[in-house]
Amino acid sequence: MRWPRGSLLTLAAFCTLGAAACGSTDAGAGVVVHVGSPVPALASSTASGAAATPTGTPLPPPELDLSTTQVYQAGAILVSVLGGVSGGSITFLGRSYPLTKGTQSMFSFVGVDTDDPPGPQPLKVDFTLPNGTKGTLSQTVTVVQTKWSVDSLAFSADKDALLDPRIVNDELAQLKAIYSKVTPEKYWSGGWLVPVEGPITARYGEQRSINGGPPSGHHGGTDIGVPEGTPVKATNRGRVVLARQLQERGNMVIIDHGGGLYSGYAHMSSFNVSEGQMVEQGDVVGMSGNTGLSTGPHLHWEMAIDGVWLDALRFTDGTNGF
Ligand SMILES: [Zn+2]
Repeated sequence: MRWPRGSLLTLAAFCTLGAAACGSTDAGAGVVVHVGSPVPALASSTASGAAATPTGTPLPPPELDLSTTQVYQAGAILVSVLGGVSGGSITFLGRSYPLTKGTQSMFSFVGVDTDDPPGPQPLKVDFTLPNGTKGTLSQTVTVVQTKWSVDSLAFSADKDALLDPRIVNDELAQLKAIYSKVTPEKYWSGGWLVPVEGPITARYGEQRSINGGPPSGHHGGTDIGVPEGTPVKATNRGRVVLARQLQERGNMVIIDHGGGLYSGYAHMSSFNVSEGQMVEQGDVVGMSGNTGLSTGPHLHWEMAIDGVWLDALRFTDGTNGF
């Protein structure tokens, strides 16, 4: 997907590191940071604050576990709350994320937007224990600046019609509505798969100079150059919530991984799945192509959390700490 000039500034949310930033290791890359908070600030007057099972056995106090405390712009953190919590929400950079029940904890992915300010920021978790007691855990997280590269693109006259800001913004609004829903169920598990093997032809967040215009916008996904007809695999388990033709992204599949996290696969030539279907990691969702606003055969792969577009490659290169 290519971002036309000036039309996507409001969604500057999607970005990648420029080539130089990708693969940097100075932001805790690949290091899982376990941030324990042994003394949660319990808001109620409950003496111990600890919950108890129906048999009276005290549950361990809630504990915060972050995949990293240093996260790039357009990166993500996996926040888990261990212990016997029954619900709650995370607040970071003015956005709120409900906790979803996971395998051994409650969790949410937390996304950092392209334009979120670098520097230390408080991350706060408000939780509720099974006995109704409420409490708060907090941790400082540092947002690390990403440098965005600039690419020059030229579109032919027939593709130019698709650069109409109204078409672009209508599609973005449609996608943002999908990406903003939080399914309170964990579908994903384990690591994340790159959907096709091929050269990265455009990174997430890259700025675009279209037909000689000034650099603007941010590329909302990762482009991988592959011949038309290459099988596109689901990056993780989830439910297909969209499999249809869009004007800019062409034939697109979107998978809901649960807990507010989505992956999207665009410009495909055909679909192998239908809306509502569950898919496993590695299942073929369709064949790659060159449909929609595309300058050559490739897969445009995007990831989003709670309506914020993120750098998909950070789900696979270790820089998110998971
Ligand atoms: Zn793209």
